[in-house]
Amino acid sequence: MIYLDYAATAPFRPGIADTLNEIAREPLGNPSSLHRAGRKARFYLEEAREQCANLLGAKVEEIVFCSGATEADNLALRGTLSHSDIKHSGLITSSVEHAAVFETAQAMEEDGQAVSWMKVNSTGEILLDSLERSLQGNPRQLVSVMAVNNEIGTRQPIEEVSTICRSHGALLHVDAVQAPHQAKELIDAGAVDLLTLSGHKMGGLPGGLLYVRQGVPLAPQILGGAQEDGRRAGTSEVLRAVSMARALQATLAEDPSELAKLRDLFEQTLKECGAAHALGPASPDKRAAHISAWLFDNLGAEPILTRLDLLDICASSGSACSSHAVEPSRVVAAMGYDQTQSMGLVRFSFGWNSTREEVRRAARVVLETVEKMIHKEKIAR
Ligand code: PLP
Repeated sequence: MIYLDYAATAPFRPGIADTLNEIAREPLGNPSSLHRAGRKARFYLEEAREQCANLLGAKVEEIVFCSGATEADNLALRGTLSHSDIKHSGLITSSVEHAAVFETAQAMEEDGQAVSWMKVNSTGEILLDSLERSLQGNPRQLVSVMAVNNEIGTRQPIEEVSTICRSHGALLHVDAVQAPHQAKELIDAGAVDLLTLSGHKMGGLPGGLLYVRQGVPLAPQILGGAQEDGRRAGTSEVLRAVSMARALQATLAEDPSELAKLRDLFEQTLKECGAAHALGPASPDKRAAHISAWLFDNLGAEPILTRLDLLDICASSGSACSSHAVEPSRVVAAMGYDQTQSMGLVRFSFGWNSTREEVRRAARVVLETVEKMIHKEKIAR
């Protein structure tokens, strides 16, 4: 099998499995318990928090572990704007955010929260003048922008977004799930107030991390306990936290430019196909190293993905609903493409275990598969 769907979930790193097995060999208690097993669990939890903080250039108190990045995004948006000490009101986000932010913002808007939606250009990059305009009327708002778009791989101009936010006194949340390498730089530079990471995108277990800059008010959205310093109730998940620290460490030790080489190798072959149209920015510094997004004339993504699956290649459309059917991509539509095109997004993504040989082979198979399908379509017409 050739796995090219790292942006959905990266394969679990065997080294992390070994660490977790080792830890779980002894009985682990509840990290809130006073006895020895509880103290042991608390030790691993706090050690993982310290490791994450060190890797990100953050303070330990600034790390909140959650069930996943979806929860972390929900907490960032709802938790800040609902806190009684918050001096900010109003949310600014974009039409291409992951559903964890997009649907939360929509729900908040339905509940009466003022929400401004930034538009994007044809490569998926947000239009900064719409951010400026939205902040002019009310500068003290929460801005939520993803670092890298999960469907297309477009890098958002976070440094510029941050400069604009800072000059107006706005808070900034960055979903960096697809850009863990950028997280430390943003935190170090004091460019963000809140930042989200996901464990399973880095080769760990599903699990979320929310960085919350010291002093940013955050009201818990799950109630029923004082865990995570009162910001997220529920028994803290020790193994997930350990897995998050290990996955982050392993990811940050890797050089993203190696993934860019694999992506470019893949794209070189696909460009031989007249029906293949690359999505997103052409400039390498405006795109993520690990994502390659395509439309193949007017072919729908589903039949392509089904054929590739039969040929043992795992890729995806940018988004799949819970019924596993391909839905039109909201992101592709926001970039100005029509309904048929928004059904055609095929995303290939690379990661820690991808090799040149399999990427080269997969590109050939994709090319031949698509050409056959286009040929068949022409004959049928
Ligand atoms: N944000 C982005 C940009 C993502 O790509 C994803 C997952 O696809 C999420 C948030 C949600 O992550 P999780 O699966 O950890 O809830």
